[in-house]
Amino acid sequence: MTPDERLIRDEILTISEVDVTKCMHCGKCSASCPAYDVMDIKPHQFPSYMAHGEIRELMNSTTIWECLGCSTCIERCPRNVKPGKLIDGVRQAVIRQRGGSHLYPEQIPAMVDPQMPQQLLVSVLRRERK
Ligand code: SF4
Ligand code: SF4
Repeated sequence: MTPDERLIRDEILTISEVDVTKCMHCGKCSASCPAYDVMDIKPHQFPSYMAHGEIRELMNSTTIWECLGCSTCIERCPRNVKPGKLIDGVRQAVIRQRGGSHLYPEQIPAMVDPQMPQQLLVSVLRRERK
């Protein structure tokens, strides 16, 4: 792990407030995740990747954009690890790194399905604009 990656890892752990050493790899989080099939790195793998310093792999993962933020994994985890918060922390780190080049609200209308509920858009915007 490079010094930069170490800094990013510390930032993610601070944002998410997750203790990755508590994970016992039981897989309950992934088993209950509604987006499991479309994720390349599964929720139960996030704590291990983080513990082993594989930060770039997590930041390049499709999972951080596929996670629905439903918190089911957080409720089901028997060790209170909160993998969903870890995924959210990695996503926030990526958004912060991209700075001004991430998606702006005015770009969104042309990209969305007109049938999509407005509450979903508001929820996503609140979550991504941190
Ligand atoms: S994060 Fe929790 S539910 Fe997921 S594998 Fe680790 S201990 Fe199990
Ligand atoms: S918060 Fe994300 S990772 Fe956790 S169960 Fe929901 S979709 Fe899956």
